[in-house]
Amino acid sequence: MHVVVVTTSEVRITICTLAGDRVKANMAGLLRRINLDPDPRRLYLGAYVFLQVPMNPSPIPSQEQMMIRVHPRALSAVYFLTFFLAFGLICALVPGPVRGQDLPFAMEVRVPGTLSYDPAIPRPESVIGHVVGDTHTRSHLVADYYRAVADASDRVVVSRHGATYEGRHLYHAVVTSPANQARLEEIRLANHRLSDAPGAVSDAMIETMPVVVHMGYGVHGNEASTSEAAMLVLYHLAAGSGPAVDDLLDRAVIIMDPNYNPDGRDRFVNWVNANRGRVATRDGQDREHAEPWPGGRTNHYWFDLNRDWLVAQHPSSQGRVGLFHHWRAQVLTDFHEMGSNATYFFQPGIPSRNNPNTPERTFELTAALAEHHAEWLDRHGALYYSRETFDDFFYGKGSTFPDVNGAIGILFEQASSRALDRMTNDGVLTYPYTIRNQFATSMSTLAGSLALRTELLAHQRDFYASAPEAARRNPVKAYVLDLGGTRTRTQALLQMLLRHRIRVYELARTVQADRTLPAGRTAGSGERTYRAGEAVIIPMDQPQTRLIKASMEQVTTFTDSLFYDVSAWTLPLAMGVPSGELRSYSDDLAGAEITEAAFDGGELIGGHGSYAYLMEWDRYFAPRALYRILDAGLRPRLARQPFSATVGGPGGSGGPGETGGSGGAATTERTFDRGTIIIPVAQRDAASTVTAAQVRALIDRVVAEDHVIVHGTNTGLTPSGGDLGGPTSPVLVKPEIALLSGPGTRAYEVGETWHLLNERFGIPVSLVDADGFSDLDLDRYTTLVMVTGSYDLDTEDVNRLMEWVRDGGVLIAWKNAARWLIGQELIDEGLRSARPDTVAIPYELVSSTRGAQRIGGAIFAAAFDTSHPLAFGYGEQAPLFRNHEIFFEPSATPGATVARYTSSPLLAGYISPKRQEELADSAALIARRQGAGAVVLFADNPNFRAFWYGTNGLFLNAVFFGGAF
Ligand SMILES: [Zn+2]
Repeated sequence: MHVVVVTTSEVRITICTLAGDRVKANMAGLLRRINLDPDPRRLYLGAYVFLQVPMNPSPIPSQEQMMIRVHPRALSAVYFLTFFLAFGLICALVPGPVRGQDLPFAMEVRVPGTLSYDPAIPRPESVIGHVVGDTHTRSHLVADYYRAVADASDRVVVSRHGATYEGRHLYHAVVTSPANQARLEEIRLANHRLSDAPGAVSDAMIETMPVVVHMGYGVHGNEASTSEAAMLVLYHLAAGSGPAVDDLLDRAVIIMDPNYNPDGRDRFVNWVNANRGRVATRDGQDREHAEPWPGGRTNHYWFDLNRDWLVAQHPSSQGRVGLFHHWRAQVLTDFHEMGSNATYFFQPGIPSRNNPNTPERTFELTAALAEHHAEWLDRHGALYYSRETFDDFFYGKGSTFPDVNGAIGILFEQASSRALDRMTNDGVLTYPYTIRNQFATSMSTLAGSLALRTELLAHQRDFYASAPEAARRNPVKAYVLDLGGTRTRTQALLQMLLRHRIRVYELARTVQADRTLPAGRTAGSGERTYRAGEAVIIPMDQPQTRLIKASMEQVTTFTDSLFYDVSAWTLPLAMGVPSGELRSYSDDLAGAEITEAAFDGGELIGGHGSYAYLMEWDRYFAPRALYRILDAGLRPRLARQPFSATVGGPGGSGGPGETGGSGGAATTERTFDRGTIIIPVAQRDAASTVTAAQVRALIDRVVAEDHVIVHGTNTGLTPSGGDLGGPTSPVLVKPEIALLSGPGTRAYEVGETWHLLNERFGIPVSLVDADGFSDLDLDRYTTLVMVTGSYDLDTEDVNRLMEWVRDGGVLIAWKNAARWLIGQELIDEGLRSARPDTVAIPYELVSSTRGAQRIGGAIFAAAFDTSHPLAFGYGEQAPLFRNHEIFFEPSATPGATVARYTSSPLLAGYISPKRQEELADSAALIARRQGAGAVVLFADNPNFRAFWYGTNGLFLNAVFFGGAF
């Protein structure tokens, strides 16, 4: 059979010479789907021509030998007839280039072992309106296609497993034989036994088990070929027939997750489709090729979802990770695109950079699968490589996370065409070509998984069967986490752990931990007591022991000094949760199992106060509560000194002059830390309309929803320290925040801060374009935030910024934005230059030597001046995250250095000795008054990747207290 697709700007013509009934049936079905009634007489003629007017005129024929481009004007009847007759004759007489099968795709793809495609299964173009590869397919069409196939096929079930911030649903298909579909739950539960009860799964049982393969696509929205291939794969699996397809569906359950990041995909796809004319351009400088800031790679808040598998802070990640654990596949794919001049990459990747918590067998199986990818790409003649770049170290990535869950994660990277055609250093790269390669490696993954089925199943079983031995070898037998002062953050950490099937228990008896990580109010390291009922325990002897170790350990030595991403993510350090390692464990330490960790623990102590409420500041959501209070029109005050107060007692009422309502029991005297928020019941502001009843309702709400601890008091007179209306407690002002964003700023960091303020804390923020700074009305804002970026303000704008600060504005900046402010002499502080290497090194080693001097992402200890308002809620030391090499000298101004790195700061991750020397004793946080305002310089981004809960408080201190020191 010959199928020739001729694409023009107006019409699509398929000419087919026919052989056999199956082909005729296919053709007839095809024609019916485009509302052409096939004429059987013409089918018997041996050739058939039809015209299809595409729903979405797609102007760009793909480059391919079999394609013939026809200008619309040439479609005169005469030309057409001549063309048809001549081509029909050629088709009839000469065996032309053969497509292995009739995939709905404008490029030859050879799939051995497939005889035909079932015409009852809709082809992509019948649902999405264009042939795959002709244009970029929007997310909802990918989903529509998946549902349409599920409706038509007894091999496919489509379900929803989540939604994005922008409300797009996440769908996946479960594809297997109808017989397997009929006992799908049984298969799934049997598959779970590999991890839950590995000792009960014999080799003989494995012989009969299907392999579960989880095919994931498109985590980066602007790597668009991925989801296109996912439609072709589904079509192939649902419609294909022949020994290879039958065998695959009999012995595999395939989870097709076609679009991990639909928000990002649509941001990208809408751009390329909207900026392409009738004639596509190959020019990388053309708009179609140059999506604007922030690009479609990331999710709604501009997070890289391929760093979020472990901590799963975003709804789509929670859906994705939930689906992963629901099935516990043996193989998970992660399809990507890379630079246009590259070729194709598939793992194993760089062997010396594998995470040591991943067993060696994982890499052997990854390499065995790689042989299949090579075979398929060899078949199509695509250039590729498999070892020279990318690593398997950080478990936040989709290709590495499965490795610590008894599965094999595989990273695929196709050179990106960005648009439809792209001129590269190796000629023109087309979108269909990139899709073809993604399809080919999808097929190779399936073929390889089938060939290695018993090995993969046995690997998962053995991975979990060896968990007790891995736990025995680990000197740490359990971790304990404090659930007292850091309750909310600890609960957020528990939510992460529970999502990954990690078993956590209430601590049943009080213990001393051998080592304590510096966090929260805990000063330094050393022994710490964890009290029964106020702590949780995580025993290491459990199936996910490797994942626990990988999440909790503090590693500072590595076999390789280069990292594709961060080198440390120790969760208790990131979350600011005091945690300890136990070197011995007995079952009586574990109380009731904790199966969910919803935020709770808000308390109103002493009942409703008639005079004021005192809110403690160390709960994570205290800033959310404070914002609600400010937003309601109250004027709370910040206690800058410790004091004691009389809490509760009779006489508590709705407010001064009101009667009724009892404050409750006897009064108690309590001490309060710096940072306590004083909320008066009566408003001094004559213009205020806030009533005592409204204050009371507000307090009830923040206690219930923000999980804060508030004390009610009936008097402003305190037994010690300042009285509640005293001069050391300045009035706080509601922040009006602008965040410089847009081209020139780092979208990740803008997004992290935007997400933190909006999603976590319910605080509005204006994202204003940095390159429109000169038109900005700064007077609308109390607070301006500058993240990493290349800022380009002229002298006039810099002066305007300085004036705004002197008039009372709070300017918060970090990393190179802080350096920029120093360079602009907006603030007189000093940089510590990172000295380049002077060692003579051979050419070959230049890049690795330079790479080893990078701080890719590691965790360091900083010491705090706890008397400074910007450190309120923190103890003497806290861990900070750093991923760059700008070092700040401590300020010469007394009291301005709020935090500095310790003299030996490394807590976890990699840093070269030379860089650690530069980091030691450098400034981590500088806060300076400038006129009526302030400049706050963070050395590092306090809002990294949404899981650094531990440092969010520093940023929020700057937001709320930046005018109060
Ligand atoms: Zn990618």
